[in-house]
Amino acid sequence: MLSVDAAMPSVAPVPSFRRADVDDERWRDWRWQLGHMLTTADELATVVDLTPAERTGLAASAKLFRVGITPYYASLMDPAHASCPIRMQAIPNVAEADVRDEELRDPLGEDTHNPAPSVVHKYPDRVLFLVVDRCGIYCRHCNRRRLVGGDEPPTTADLEAGLAYIAQTRRIRDVLLSGGDPLLLSTRRLDYLLGRLRAIPHVETIRIGTRLPVVCPMRIDDELCTALAKHHPVFVNTHFNHVVELTPEARAGCERLVDAGIPVGNQTVLLRGINSSTQSLRALMRGLLRSRIKPYYLFQGDTVIGTDHLRTSVEDAMRLYESLRGWMNGMAVPMLVLDAPGGGGKVPIVPSFIESIDRETVVVRTYRGERISYPQPRQRDCSVAYDAVAFAGEPVDDDREGSAEMLDGPG
Ligand code: SF4
Repeated sequence: MLSVDAAMPSVAPVPSFRRADVDDERWRDWRWQLGHMLTTADELATVVDLTPAERTGLAASAKLFRVGITPYYASLMDPAHASCPIRMQAIPNVAEADVRDEELRDPLGEDTHNPAPSVVHKYPDRVLFLVVDRCGIYCRHCNRRRLVGGDEPPTTADLEAGLAYIAQTRRIRDVLLSGGDPLLLSTRRLDYLLGRLRAIPHVETIRIGTRLPVVCPMRIDDELCTALAKHHPVFVNTHFNHVVELTPEARAGCERLVDAGIPVGNQTVLLRGINSSTQSLRALMRGLLRSRIKPYYLFQGDTVIGTDHLRTSVEDAMRLYESLRGWMNGMAVPMLVLDAPGGGGKVPIVPSFIESIDRETVVVRTYRGERISYPQPRQRDCSVAYDAVAFAGEPVDDDREGSAEMLDGPG
């Protein structure tokens, strides 16, 4: 007869991903970080005391949106407080299952502006090039949760078709590599793709959208910076949402990019209960600027399924924006925008500081609430005579839509 112990199935112990339990060499290796993402309640419980609500969210996550957190990002979690901004961004909340009628799978209308595999072409002169479908974190507010997760990675044929579309569409001046997170590609693969884009004469600028400086800053190594710098002008837009993410490692990673001549901008998503306070936003924006990262956009939450609980009202967004404008160095103030549902594009929702306007006078409201008159000039003609010299022979429709598109585009 088997003993009780022998009859029990053996259960492998859950490895600990706490910083103190991992040696430096592995901790600093970005491949180790990305290869050991925490995905289960048992793994997360080695890092924080999970609340019953977090456990419920994790149990429901299979039906919601996948979970994945690098050990580095998990190490930033406050083990004692579930209101920690890192926990709230990374650990599922059961409210994600509460989908409202007006919420959309594809809130930005990307799937209907998809002229080639892996390409989203919504604006006249720029495209998104979705080169990978995995991330270094699965953010609970993600507006691309229908696509990311590693289930349907773009194939080589998809990427070739995307490159072909970009090459034959001459009005494309700017390509934004996104996904998923493009910095999950090997440096060699990324270098190759950037080289292919750089070889297209009408592609003037290349941008990379990535959250790895936030969730896996060890990815920003010298090899990567050297590879990116070969393809200038290259810009990186990253995604810090709270000042606690601006660790020495994250700041150093961004500074390595800047030192390689790669300007780094930041897109913050306004998240209710995570960063929706004046104190939190000011600290984040000041911290970004100190780290040589330019605050670029502050996004009103998108109407993506399962994220209603994370959105602020637009009035609150505008009120928070007013608490930044004028009170801080203007370089630290991002543009507040709303992505119009269905693919309308980004719309500034910055409150107006103009109280009244006529031909003689504009009355403005300062950041301190004072009303001050600004006298209008007497001359109104804004045409620039030298344009005829500087831009001789160039089409007037500078956005390359309309007639210029007919002339320059694919036949
Ligand atoms: S890193 Fe970006 S694409 Fe990936 S889950 Fe987060 S928001 Fe979505």
